[in-house]
Amino acid sequence: MQKRADLHVHTYYSDGTFSPEETVKEAKRLNLDAIAICDHDCADGIDEALEASKKYGVEIIPGVEFTCEKEGIEIHMLGYLIDVKRKSVSKLLKDLRERRVQRIYDMVDKLKKCNVQISPESVFSLSERGTIGRLHLAQAMYNQNLVTSVKEAFNKYIGDDAPCYVSRFNITPEETIKAILESGGVPVYAHPAVMGRDDFIPEFMKAGLRGLEVYHTDQRNSVTKRYKNLADKLGLLTTGGSDWHGLGKKKSPMGGVTVPYSTVEALKKEASEIRSHV
Ligand code: AMP
Ligand code: ZN
Ligand code: FE
Ligand code: FE
Repeated sequence: MQKRADLHVHTYYSDGTFSPEETVKEAKRLNLDAIAICDHDCADGIDEALEASKKYGVEIIPGVEFTCEKEGIEIHMLGYLIDVKRKSVSKLLKDLRERRVQRIYDMVDKLKKCNVQISPESVFSLSERGTIGRLHLAQAMYNQNLVTSVKEAFNKYIGDDAPCYVSRFNITPEETIKAILESGGVPVYAHPAVMGRDDFIPEFMKAGLRGLEVYHTDQRNSVTKRYKNLADKLGLLTTGGSDWHGLGKKKSPMGGVTVPYSTVEALKKEASEIRSHV
């Protein structure tokens, strides 16, 4: 049987609900050959996943899903096979983590102005480690009966276009791409269909973008095809994954989107090419 990989999963080090070990165990149950751990602005779960990989025999591709911002739009940039101990990226991760905490306070303030009373502590209590984000805030709102679903929290209050959304990620995708490259990693534009700003892609390429996340959850086949054609035309790698969040976002089961193992090999080849320059 062809080897398969899911190159986009979250753990409880960001807004997933499973530990790295549970995540690797689930990958084994699903007969996946490799998974990429891509927590939001956090690499802390990778060592535990690598340890679990010895037990379960599932290969771990280290990754981070970086948050950045361009023209007021939140952009997610995947960094595969980065060396997180390198200075540029460790400083960036520390900075992003602090911004995420401040952003919760800012969104709580905005919610207050919309007559939604929630304490920052009740949000922080849902995230014992790693980075905090909007999914934690939405979950806290749901737990306190302020919304009838997590979806409603996003639609009404904290979604990208909703009134209580706060960005605070004033690091550009171009700067993020540079930091990923300096750390020997491969920068890939995450779920471009979600952002719908294909006009950014040539600018990202100038900064050193190497791939597009062509295969992603909840995406029409015609959209996937369009990004596959675009990536081929531009000479970019094509990656993909489920964006699994455990019980946090039930719509995307692990392994729901996979790519052939040759994608992993292509990423490794690209990383070694990048490392030969830095
Ligand atoms: P953050 O990194 O804090 O901006 O949060 C981004 C995360 O919020 C995404 O990875 C999803 O887990 C979640 N998210 C964003 N928009 C929505 C939405 N409309 N419905 C449900 N979850 C969402
Ligand atoms: Zn998430
Ligand atoms: Fe994302
Ligand atoms: Fe994600």
